[in-house]
Amino acid sequence: MKIASIINGAESIDNREETLMVYNPHNQERVAEVQLADENELNAAIDNSYETFHHTMKTMPAHKRADILLKAAELLEDRLEDFAQIITKEAGKPIQFSRAEVKRSMQVIRFASEYAKQISGEVIPMDAAIGGENRFGFTKRVPVGVVAAITPFNFPLNLSLHKIAPAIAAGNTIVLKPAEKTPVSAYMLVKLFHEAGLPVGGLNLVLGLGEELGDPLVKHEKIHKVTFTGSLGVGRIIRENAGFKKVTLELGSNSPNLLFEDADLEQAVPSLVKGAFAFSGQVCISAQRLYVHRSIYDRFLDDFKKRTEELVIGDPMDEATDFGPMINEEAAERAKSWIDDAVIHGAKVHTGGEQNGTLLTPTIMTDVKSNMKVIAEEVFAPIVSVIPFDTEEEAVKAANDSIYGLQAGVFTKDINKAFRVADKLEMGGVWINEISTYRQDNHPYGGVKQSGIGREGVKYAVEDMTEMKFFGLNLDSYQ
Ligand code: NAP
Repeated sequence: MKIASIINGAESIDNREETLMVYNPHNQERVAEVQLADENELNAAIDNSYETFHHTMKTMPAHKRADILLKAAELLEDRLEDFAQIITKEAGKPIQFSRAEVKRSMQVIRFASEYAKQISGEVIPMDAAIGGENRFGFTKRVPVGVVAAITPFNFPLNLSLHKIAPAIAAGNTIVLKPAEKTPVSAYMLVKLFHEAGLPVGGLNLVLGLGEELGDPLVKHEKIHKVTFTGSLGVGRIIRENAGFKKVTLELGSNSPNLLFEDADLEQAVPSLVKGAFAFSGQVCISAQRLYVHRSIYDRFLDDFKKRTEELVIGDPMDEATDFGPMINEEAAERAKSWIDDAVIHGAKVHTGGEQNGTLLTPTIMTDVKSNMKVIAEEVFAPIVSVIPFDTEEEAVKAANDSIYGLQAGVFTKDINKAFRVADKLEMGGVWINEISTYRQDNHPYGGVKQSGIGREGVKYAVEDMTEMKFFGLNLDSYQ
């Protein structure tokens, strides 16, 4: 399978040499050959998106945008299995999780379809200001224009849709640049939207390397908004390059989960195994730091280890597989080196820690220190650390001791303590009696500190993809 960028609905495959292979992380089989776009194609895509915004999308009525989105959701539902299989092949995600991703994606498009009809402004009480008598004022949300959407490999479908679907709901056009490691599901998605009736220039796809096309895309004067999900390092570059453009950055984290002495371990332990090891920990809100009250530490650790060792490791295409490879060998080697580094400095590997090619076995670490990489940085790998604490203050302080602040989990039956702790945690979101890794696609989602800027979750993304415009009327002039 050879794929290329799609600009104004056309995919121009030629014989150029700049191609990139996408390999299955599990067995290294070739999934696709990608023809890489150059800067001329990038500029053509942006120009086309700009024209399509001004001539078509800007004036397309909300009911039509809603219908296109609804149709896209229906098409995706029909093709659930095709999309799930390709996510598993290109990302190495176990098939049960790929299917879950496609189902969430369908829901995201449906939320956007519904919200397209709800985008509204407010009436301003003009006579609240001295001299404002006989004036009428209201606001309206208007689309920003061309949105550049840059997406990561770990949820190649759903995280693309968290940008595409609200952008369409708001009446924008989009230039999508997916991750080089997982471009095939994005390619299929763009075709699906065209089939659903979206004007072809409403969604252009540029397949190219981030380090080459990122700068010209983000700096381009016809781009009005950049929405990025990915690593902190790239987020920093984008923030600098974007200038006056609106920017949403959904970046990384080292999510903490706090388990107090009265936590329901029967519920928490299996959830945390999933939260730490789903998709080999390559989830931005993966449970990375578990702070456990000393009185339940041993019991927790025993059970957590036992259930972790029960995970079925294997071929991501097998229905029974819980745990598969990391995205590539380099990522697995990098994570293994962080484990080794922590061990040299006194940490212990309680289970796991074995790396072979793209596979790194589910790893639980203890005796860690706050300055070790496995704690201080985003591991983005199947590595979780369990750390005992004695007091609430100590647990909160340790959880907040991070450059990141995306989501956290708090486990306790004491509702007062739960809210007190949740209030003190410096996070974009806090779950009580739920893992940090849980996310629904309709709540505001995004980070504080260096976890990002702005919020996703369809309604909140629409806010960030529209401008508030004020209209005022002097009623005196009509008398
Ligand atoms: P990444 O390396 O930062 O890449 C993300 C995207 O940025 C890719 O499309 C990449 O293109 C592109 N890119 C690379 N250099 C660029 C540049 N100079 N300018 C513009 N774009 C550039 O991230 P990843 O490894 O795919 O994903 C993992 C990261 O994403 C983790 O840190 C994770 O926490 C974060 N994440 C955050 C959220 C959230 O919602 N907060 C969700 C999921 C993931 P190429 O692929 O071509 O290099």
